[in-house]
Amino acid sequence: MANAIIAARTILTRLHEVMASRDRAQAKLNTVVEVIAEGLNSEVCSIYLLREGMLELFATKGLDQDAVHVTRMALGEGLVGTIGGNVETLNLAEATAHPDFSYRPETGEDKFHSFAGVPIVRRERAVGVLCVQHVDPRRYEEVEIEALQTVAMVLSELIANADLVDDEGAWGLSEAQTGPALMRGLTLVKGLASGIAVFHQPRVTIEHTVAEDTEAERQRVYLAFDKMREQIERMAAQAEFGVGGEHEEVLQTYKMFAYDEGWSRRINEAIDSGLTAEAAIERVQQRTRMRMRQIDDPLLADRMHDLEDLSNRLLRTVSGQLGTAASKGLRQDAILIARNLGPAELLEYDKRRLKGVILEEGSLTAHVVIVARAMGVPVLGRVQGLRGQVREGDLLLLDADQGTATVRPATAMADAFDMRFAKNREKQAVYAALRDVEPRTADGVRIKVMMNAGLRDDMPQLAQTGADGVGLFRTEFQFLVSATLPARERQTRLYRDVLEVAGDKPVIFRTVDIGGDKALPYLRHDGGEGEENPAMGWRALRVALEREGLLKVQARALLEASAGRTLNVMFPMVSEPWEFDAAKAVFEAQLKWLKGQKKMLPEAIRYGAMLEVPALAEMLDVIAPKVSFLSIGTNDLTQFLFAADRSNPKLAERYDWVSPSIMRFLARVVKGVEGHKVDIAVCGEMGGRRLEALALIGLGIHRLSITPASVGPIKELVCKVNAADIESAMRGWLTNPPANLRAEIANWAAARGIECD
Ligand code: PEP
Ligand code: MG
Repeated sequence: MANAIIAARTILTRLHEVMASRDRAQAKLNTVVEVIAEGLNSEVCSIYLLREGMLELFATKGLDQDAVHVTRMALGEGLVGTIGGNVETLNLAEATAHPDFSYRPETGEDKFHSFAGVPIVRRERAVGVLCVQHVDPRRYEEVEIEALQTVAMVLSELIANADLVDDEGAWGLSEAQTGPALMRGLTLVKGLASGIAVFHQPRVTIEHTVAEDTEAERQRVYLAFDKMREQIERMAAQAEFGVGGEHEEVLQTYKMFAYDEGWSRRINEAIDSGLTAEAAIERVQQRTRMRMRQIDDPLLADRMHDLEDLSNRLLRTVSGQLGTAASKGLRQDAILIARNLGPAELLEYDKRRLKGVILEEGSLTAHVVIVARAMGVPVLGRVQGLRGQVREGDLLLLDADQGTATVRPATAMADAFDMRFAKNREKQAVYAALRDVEPRTADGVRIKVMMNAGLRDDMPQLAQTGADGVGLFRTEFQFLVSATLPARERQTRLYRDVLEVAGDKPVIFRTVDIGGDKALPYLRHDGGEGEENPAMGWRALRVALEREGLLKVQARALLEASAGRTLNVMFPMVSEPWEFDAAKAVFEAQLKWLKGQKKMLPEAIRYGAMLEVPALAEMLDVIAPKVSFLSIGTNDLTQFLFAADRSNPKLAERYDWVSPSIMRFLARVVKGVEGHKVDIAVCGEMGGRRLEALALIGLGIHRLSITPASVGPIKELVCKVNAADIESAMRGWLTNPPANLRAEIANWAAARGIECD
């Protein structure tokens, strides 16, 4: 290793001089091949660069000079083309014995037997090939290959900076690197979108590869390692509280790599060879990538993605380029690419430019997906190998309706997509025309179709969709998008604005539901310790009742904002009736205080509870007389009924919302409130899906609060359904549950010409 380090370092020092010289690009390359050949004691050294899709011999020491700019190889053709095409290293004792060898007489290379070549990589693409040749038929030693790879890395900087090509586009990347690719995933939010790929965590562009001061670079890496480890420890602590959407398992792997001696040692060795901290990290990463290509183990590949993430994180730390793409701002219509995201992270993006999201993970009821749905942004999740296939700036066509995304589409594909887009718009126009139509079933049952909201920006959709009101206003979204706890005045202002926009239509405010996957970095656990299972942990009303100050402030804000009108307020995660009583008492105390102050009060207050913890369903006779309404939060309810974490991507497709068990449970709840003056509604995501909504109507649920984009489609469905018919069918199915209830409902609907999805 020491030899390689010395050889690479000597070459790098000289390359540094070459790069700094005022020579023209071609002269620089001519010197470079001399320097490398001498440094590696090699008879031939050649540089091929990609131009117009071909690898062209740009400079050589040892081959015939007449071949320069004459010898050209397609990617995949000959040894040089194979290295470029596969972005791999070749090390051969006898070049002619390789099946891809292609003889080029103009180069005069017949006398050279051994051959080694490495790709010159920029932004993970091969933009050229550096190779050496010897008369002696011997394989190059590992240390020599290492040195060659280090030099190739520096060369990529020289090529980028020396105006050797007009721009990246002119390098004419190969079909394999630029051709279309279809990716499949799980539809999380339906819709179509096109835009350029933007990585939530952008890749760092390395400006300088050769170090001026090796010791200083070493210190920078040490510091970056320390910072990164601190970050990971912090993330691990927060993950237990649900921040950031990172998974426990991933963080464990992060930790393992962050403390891995081998990794930091290899980076150190790369610095010894004369690279800057950034280049050293990237150099080690490139080597790992190349090794990975030879390993066919999906589990290991996943772990390597983690290392890639971490390496990128280290690069961002060392280069000080810490922000996500949101902090840089979106410059054009974009499709966001990420492994996973937290809801707050998504909200940082400019809504006008963010057209879609593609995730490697994700599940239907994860809050980031709910936020995206509310923003009207289509989301495709669980796309394997996503970050390996898409590059920053690639054009993407996202068809979340079909569960696919096409990267770098051919013109014909883009045209077909545009046609679908146009059709979709036509459909939207049909839904928009239903805006003023009252949703009433064919047999005259009025179904209240409300919408879910959480931000001021969501409110105009009330008029646009013609929804009957806001059935769930998630007040915690204001908390999620704030850097600190929003002051009472800010809360009051928001609620007042929301009510103002709503006009005569009702808005049901839900008090803050934080915790689970909606953790606030500025609101920690007492003592700071994490939770094993945040979804079932210290969240929602549990937090609010313990941090009474939080609920008091919110109560006052809601009461003041509702002066002169009706306040509809509901509490999340009520598990036992006394929790409802305690929360209501906080509001009543604030009301009393306001009365004492002779402030203007709400005309009426309607209190409600969310039914999302199954235990509450056993207490309906107790809770029903206390509340004006109950809103069933099926997102949480189903995760508790099935004991299946709603944010866990592995469980995303496992259980069905229209399973007989869920349906029977909901039927019991509907029956349980019969005879009480309680409005019963469903405000979970399932209500926004047509087949699910049909099933809910079949259970006698006549109030749905759904994502705004679903209001039109659900209204359309409602108008076609005969409520009595679906209720009777549902009774039959629940008495004798079929093996596949979803299929039964779909058949039932199809037989009546009701389009379900
Ligand atoms: C639910 O749990 O169904 C619900 C509507 O609340 P959230 O998704 O905000 O937890
Ligand atoms: Mg909930």
